[in-house]
Amino acid sequence: MGGAISLLAVNFIIAQIFVVAFLIIAAKSREKKPAIWCAAGFTVASLSAVFETVLPFSVVPKLFAFGAFASVLAGFILIRVALGLFYRVPTRLPLLAGFFLASVILDLLIYDLPRGTLKHAFFYQLPFFLIQIWSASTIVRSKRRFPADWILCGLLGLTSVYYLVKIYAAIAAGAGTTAADYLGTPFALISQALGAMLIVATGIAMLGVMVKEIIDEARASSELDALSGLYNRRGFVDRLMPVLETAGADGPGTLILADLDRFKLVNDTYGHHAGDGVIRQFSRVLVELMPSRAVAARLGGEEFAVFLPRLGLVEARLLAHGMRAALASTRIDGLPESVTITASFGVASIGPGESLEAAMQRADKALYAAKASGRNRVECAEQPATGVPVGSLRVGRK
Ligand code: GH3
Ligand code: MG
Ligand code: MG
Repeated sequence: MGGAISLLAVNFIIAQIFVVAFLIIAAKSREKKPAIWCAAGFTVASLSAVFETVLPFSVVPKLFAFGAFASVLAGFILIRVALGLFYRVPTRLPLLAGFFLASVILDLLIYDLPRGTLKHAFFYQLPFFLIQIWSASTIVRSKRRFPADWILCGLLGLTSVYYLVKIYAAIAAGAGTTAADYLGTPFALISQALGAMLIVATGIAMLGVMVKEIIDEARASSELDALSGLYNRRGFVDRLMPVLETAGADGPGTLILADLDRFKLVNDTYGHHAGDGVIRQFSRVLVELMPSRAVAARLGGEEFAVFLPRLGLVEARLLAHGMRAALASTRIDGLPESVTITASFGVASIGPGESLEAAMQRADKALYAAKASGRNRVECAEQPATGVPVGSLRVGRK
């Protein structure tokens, strides 16, 4: 019995470590609920170790046996809720509550059946098998298909198989004649050891998918501009680099730079908040008009860039004209109806082998020309003089 009790203690401690880990994840996540439900699931499930340890010494073993069963099942159900939230798969809470109720009633009904029989073992393990399958199917139904998700799904599937195998193992190895002497059986030892391994593996996989989510979110937000929702300069460069490297002989595409006209005046007259509204609305205009494969960014302040892969200078210029006209006719929320907001545009097609920096400089020159010749205009840059990347030319030391 000592061995099984030690394993129960180990299981209990492992569960507490996971509780702490999930609470830390919850503190770091934007979406906190799944990790909190996981922490609750591990807390409740770990109570079963306490019930099972006390059970052999209790005068009301039925109560503790029931507690052990109910706490594990409730823990698994809480984890199923967590998975539903994490994978954005609808969870019908009344259905889960009904399942829990039916399972505990079933457990009470079979309590006096002879243990080690197929009937007892089957009805005891059935709810555990079902809830694990239910959890695994939640991941299958979700849209996430990362390797970590498959691993977690596989482990949940494996755990469900474990409960099926337990039915036969209970009969073959013997699960004790009463709930109280269960802990003295070899079955208890094997069951607790295997259970511990599966808890650890599944817990680590769940932590893994949640940590991955935090890392992905952090990476995405470090590349996005919060005000406009477009990429920031870093995200823009990161998106473009692979395209530039793999571009063919026609060059990777065309770059449009845009800068709001007399924007300082907008801020000074209507306030910074109204200015922010203009930035948001201009971003929307860009996204609405650009092709789906284009990449738009707010490079900083009131400066924007749109990269148009595989699009020539003539088409890009037409598109920039469309964007210019659309902004000039957009009614901006928070500004008087009579106010017209405009922007100036510089367009440059990126030459084969040209660096992004060099193409941006040419587009910027064109933009400057648009400003100089009256604003609310589109100007095109000259084609690069040679195919030699400007960034690679040595200008000499200062
Ligand atoms: P030009 O037509 O020559 O581009 O004139 P401009 O006034 O638009 O250009 P300038 O560079 O003088 O001013 C840019 C202004 O953009 C100054 C700054 O207050 C404003 N700005 C920069 N970032 C933000 C922002 O995030 N929100 C708001 N509301 N204003 C910003
Ligand atoms: Mg400006
Ligand atoms: Mg500017």
